[in-house]
Amino acid sequence: MSKSVIITGVTGQIGSGFARFLLNEGHEVHGIIRRTSSFNTSRIDDVFSHPKLKLHYGDMTDGSVSNLICDLKPDYFINQAAMSHVAVSFDNPEYCFDVNATGVIRCLEAIRRHSKHTRVLQASTSELYGDHVAPQNELTPFKPRSPYAVSKLAALASVVNYREAYNIFAANSITFNTEGPARGATFLTRKVTLAAARISLGLQKELRLGNLCSKRSWTHYEDQLDGQWLVLNADEPDDYCIGLEESHSIQEFVEIVFSKLNLDWKEFVICDPRYFRPTEVDHLEPDCTKIRSKLGWKPKHTFQQLVDEMVKHDLDLARKEKILLDNK
Ligand code: NAP
Ligand code: GDP
Repeated sequence: MSKSVIITGVTGQIGSGFARFLLNEGHEVHGIIRRTSSFNTSRIDDVFSHPKLKLHYGDMTDGSVSNLICDLKPDYFINQAAMSHVAVSFDNPEYCFDVNATGVIRCLEAIRRHSKHTRVLQASTSELYGDHVAPQNELTPFKPRSPYAVSKLAALASVVNYREAYNIFAANSITFNTEGPARGATFLTRKVTLAAARISLGLQKELRLGNLCSKRSWTHYEDQLDGQWLVLNADEPDDYCIGLEESHSIQEFVEIVFSKLNLDWKEFVICDPRYFRPTEVDHLEPDCTKIRSKLGWKPKHTFQQLVDEMVKHDLDLARKEKILLDNK
């Protein structure tokens, strides 16, 4: 049966993937976009004219999203909107908290007061675990180590509180690093695949990175949103870790990507103190026993397939860039 869904952050990596997935399933998608002075809808260009996609201007820092919840009273509310960059959150903690924490409470209040049947999914994060030893699961204590993680912890706790206090179907996906060809270019994986592809065609000379020692579990965005959709449709609202149950160091990721393009990473990567964070999270890797056993989630992509897809995508982009340059 067709459902109505509000997705915040629909112009982002995971939100755009979710919109495409739900439209394919026949649902009506209301996507929230921010007004900007330049286009920010490139990730949803392919579904822009879909008859079941309605776009609304809105921002998590004001009442616009709450108003829309009151007007539409949707079946589902999926919150993917966030100031999602850990390093940037150290520079702009107040804004980060307003979007990621207070913004969520604004929406939960609208749901509590005007739309109690709405099922809520909050995109939470493995960053909450900080330096707790890996693997982490739903019972691991939180120890946030950035303004981003602090804000996301406030949001997660609010979701749990609204679920318990008001009997709302509100759930958290504790999302481990999630990647794909549409990943923002300033996040580690995409920064590396874009740079390596451009270096391989002579379009770029070096790649400046920060800490190469931390370890991450990198999951394909399609597997991530499959898991989140299971969480939203479970019999009971609950919180679930979602991610690939393996991790690699940043250096390993760099080595793998460069070697796929027959390059020696050591010749191109420069360690730049600008990209180190005041506090780092050393090792994130999930134990997903709960979502596997309770909801039957199983990722369809391996780590190698994810890397291959990203490298191929960015090599195609670099080739197009080179053709344009050569024909100038
Ligand atoms: P993303 O690509 O950075 O997308 C974030 C989205 O939020 C964009 O659509 C952005 O709009 C929107 N947004 C930012 N500030 C906003 C505001 N004030 N009002 C309304 N919208 C706003 O992030 P993602 O990778 O898709 O991640 C989706 C969610 O999962 C985020 O909440 C993130 O924190 C969480 N998460 C992601 C990961 C990961 O590894 N990807 C891991 C854990 C948790 P613009 O397009 O206009 O910038
Ligand atoms: P995060 O895990 O949510 O912070 O995702 P990121 O992709 O931003 O960072 C993953 C890891 O890569 C972190 O441990 C960063 O410190 C590390 N890292 C090293 N160099 C860079 C860089 O130049 N940019 C980013 N974004 N991360 C880097």
